Amino acid sequence: MNKNILLELSLIGCNIKQNEPLSKHTTLCIGGNADYFVEIFNEQQLILLLKFIYKNKIKFYIIGGGSNILFSDEGFRGIIIKLCGDFCRYCIQENKIVCGSAVNLSFLSKITADKELSGLEYFVGIPGTVGGAIYGNAGTKNMSISSVIDKLEIVDFIGIKKILNKKDFNFEYRKSNLQNCVITKAFFVLKKTDKNDILKVILQETDKRRKTQPIGTKNAGCIFKNPKNDSAGRIIDSLNLKNYSIGDVKVSNIHANFIINENNGSARDMLNLIDFIKNEVKKKYGISLETEIKIIK
Ligand SMILES: Cc1cc2nc3c(=O)[nH]c(=O)nc-3n(C[C@H](O)[C@H](O)[C@H](O)COP(=O)(O)OP(=O)(O)OC[C@H]3O[C@@H](n4cnc5c(N)ncnc54)[C@H](O)[C@@H]3O)c2cc1C
Repeated sequence: MNKNILLELSLIGCNIKQNEPLSKHTTLCIGGNADYFVEIFNEQQLILLLKFIYKNKIKFYIIGGGSNILFSDEGFRGIIIKLCGDFCRYCIQENKIVCGSAVNLSFLSKITADKELSGLEYFVGIPGTVGGAIYGNAGTKNMSISSVIDKLEIVDFIGIKKILNKKDFNFEYRKSNLQNCVITKAFFVLKKTDKNDILKVILQETDKRRKTQPIGTKNAGCIFKNPKNDSAGRIIDSLNLKNYSIGDVKVSNIHANFIINENNGSARDMLNLIDFIKNEVKKKYGISLETEIKIIK
């Protein structure tokens, strides 16, 4: 079977890495080896790959910028798919953007600001790709990415390309109905606005992140979703858990909803600390925190 997988992957024309450390592909720098790490360059390759995977019932997972994922220390027994090449292209015409899902979100935010287009400026410091952001409806208190999406192109897990219009997608707080598909292209509609107004937001957002987040550390952003009308960071902080550590991972002393990999932190340490925080919050407040990061076992 292994030989068949390799042969098929090479016939598809993608770039294949075997036993690839997932720690190299996540902002937490945690995760064991993936059996196959496959870089896909265009839609045709993606369709062929998904058809092959479906037919042979192979385990797989899509990765974007790896900024919202925790992979296990044992790694991944199957194929990790990363979009590259054509999926990194974008085109801006008047106030409309057509954008490959592997484009970096923060980069797109800056490029559109430069064209005096408003709508993506709040996402300037969010790491990762447009596809990852759409999948999880990323955003800030002010705005989520769903509010500027006009249309999407996807390939479903059977390998069929589809175009989704507004009536087809559903977004909630850090959640979408875009399951069982690979988001390949996004169509945004933005608003022509005075560049200074957009730059003001960009500066404010950048400054806020600099002051309230552990910039330059190995982390995956907020670990937990905010409970309704409250903030997970505030709740965790109220339990004096800033700086609390297990193994080589610890709660940030700047933002209590961030867990930092200090050096050689493991997924086991992360999961233990996540469970510990959840239990403490449940004991004290009766609140069940839900993780925002995707935990892949
Ligand atoms: C310092 C820091 C700050 C952050 N700040 C914020 C913030 O302010 N707001 C916020 O919402 N998030 C924030 N995050 C979390 C994270 O950056 C976002 O969730 C981001 O949108 C994830 O994108 P990604 O490409 O890294 O996705 P990944 O982490 O690679 O993947 C996340 C999920 O998306 C799926 N996925 C990825 N690409 C595709 C695709 N093309 N098609 C289908 N599914 C796909 C993956 O399978 C996975 O389930 C922060 C993270 C860090 C490290």
